Amino acid sequence: MINVTKTFLPPQEEYQDILKRAWDSGWMTNRGVLVKELEQQLKSYLGVNQMIAMTNGTLPLQIAIKALNLKGEIITTPFSYVATTSSIFWEGCTPVFVDILPEYLTIDETKIEAAITDKTTAILATHVFGNPCAIDEIEIIAKKYNLKVIYDAAHCFGVTYKEQSIFNYGDVSTCSFHSTKLFHTGEGGALFCNDEDLYNSLYYHHNFGHDGPLSFFGLGINAKMSELQGAMGLSLLPYLNKIFDERKKVIDFYNEAFKNQNLSTLKIRPKTNWNFSYYPVVLDSEATLLKVEKVLNVHNIYPRRYFYPSLNKLPFLEYVTMENSELVASKVLCLPLYVGLTQDELALICKLIIENL
Ligand SMILES: *Cc1c(COP(=O)(O)O)cnc(C)c1O
Repeated sequence: MINVTKTFLPPQEEYQDILKRAWDSGWMTNRGVLVKELEQQLKSYLGVNQMIAMTNGTLPLQIAIKALNLKGEIITTPFSYVATTSSIFWEGCTPVFVDILPEYLTIDETKIEAAITDKTTAILATHVFGNPCAIDEIEIIAKKYNLKVIYDAAHCFGVTYKEQSIFNYGDVSTCSFHSTKLFHTGEGGALFCNDEDLYNSLYYHHNFGHDGPLSFFGLGINAKMSELQGAMGLSLLPYLNKIFDERKKVIDFYNEAFKNQNLSTLKIRPKTNWNFSYYPVVLDSEATLLKVEKVLNVHNIYPRRYFYPSLNKLPFLEYVTMENSELVASKVLCLPLYVGLTQDELALICKLIIENL
């Protein structure tokens, strides 16, 4: 079976060697040595000053909204994973959708100003498939209207924009280390923030609000990463180059196969060093998508409809039309992309798709 992704795992002994350190110390969580070491290594690898490792990639979004004390309306994208929108709603705010650019699949920055009201407090946008939003324009709008900016950068491990980590942009950026993501800790995630005071507040928020064993800074929740997760992350670090190289080979194969075909592939924004995280193809119609998907499934190949449905159609929200997002969502398919996909498998995937366009 060929799935859209396959979790990269190091040799089990390597994970166990690192895990042994947790066994020896008897310390399984509450920011033990492994989580701290993972944070140190990731900060230098990614080129960020401050990060907090967390237990998944959704809590950082919720904690960011909470710590920034956001209320009212938050402008967001309808083309993302459900966690982007649900975090806003979960925190008692109202998601206000702004449609996407079909070209880049990110929020259409030219439509943001029209959606701002006196209740708007923030913009929460997703760098979709690792492709940056219009960061510079969004920053200008946020300054003009005094809005906070949170980036859901769940897909962005290793992405740089204008020669620095994409996690350095916005008031807060978040990442997911879920096992379907390029770098993972089983479940896991992180939050990035360059402002010292905000960072401290975010940090306390992720640990029940404690600012000492017997004292509290304020309200908090538990989003701590465990040592088991830390060990998984550390055991993957030596393989990062391999992971990027192998994924790039798969993408080169697809690009070559599809260059004269009736489908469109992801256009990466200029000044971006991309991370080969996903391979979405936008087909000419949903009918074609269903046909292609069916044929691939018959051959035990399972691409995924990322993202579907468009988030403005979520059952707990009042529906508003989002023309571009709904159209893209109806005909986008993410193709298998992982370390270990063979040339024969890739050739078969491409052949089946091309025959059915
Ligand atoms: C994966 C993902 C999340 C959630 O991350 P988890 O680690 O699964 O909680 C949030 N946003 C986007 C865009 C994602 O793809």
